[in-house]
Amino acid sequence: MAHVPRHEFVPRWEKPHAYENRPLSIGQGQTISQPYIVAAMTQMLHPRPDMRVLEIGTGCGYQAAVLAEVVAEVWSIERIPELAEAAAARLKRLGYGNIHVKTADGSTGWPEHAPYDGILVTAAGREIPTALIDQLAPGGRMVIPVGIGRYEQVLTLVTKNKDEEVREERGLPVAFVPLITEQKT
Ligand code: SAH
Repeated sequence: MAHVPRHEFVPRWEKPHAYENRPLSIGQGQTISQPYIVAAMTQMLHPRPDMRVLEIGTGCGYQAAVLAEVVAEVWSIERIPELAEAAAARLKRLGYGNIHVKTADGSTGWPEHAPYDGILVTAAGREIPTALIDQLAPGGRMVIPVGIGRYEQVLTLVTKNKDEEVREERGLPVAFVPLITEQKT
């Protein structure tokens, strides 16, 4: 994380606060995650240099950059085009050649590059999208905030073993913006 210049990921008015351990506003009603939570989620994935990881909710691209420092390849999906385009340009300018960003509803994943060794969701959903479970490789790990409302979310670890059995473990309480999906629930 010391390699990633967090001040490059926030708007000008937030730059004085870039290295504080808290989320900050990035515009469009969205936030850059708190560094502690970025670290915790990255660690829960058990990152390895050969891993291929999917992220849902690019935002400013900070979590994607932290992942790109420790895994082989990152695919990241953002539903707001302005944020996706700004993040892609920023990551390119900072020299991250191993991050691929697209604008889409990430709850259906990115099937073209599946399966993923790790999936990291940085917005909170009511439930775990089945498309993401399908796109997780055997032996893979997914970290996703699950819950309704800002103060009732739990960071959940989903693991798929070699026999494709899926397990869920509930961890830290967190407060993410909502995962907005096209599908009606
Ligand atoms: N990963 C970011 C934090 C992103 S905040 C960081 O490193 O700081 C969550 C982001 O998820 C927002 O930008 C929001 O627009 C996006 N989002 C919400 N629902 C989504 C969906 N269904 N698909 C893709 N992105 C989504």
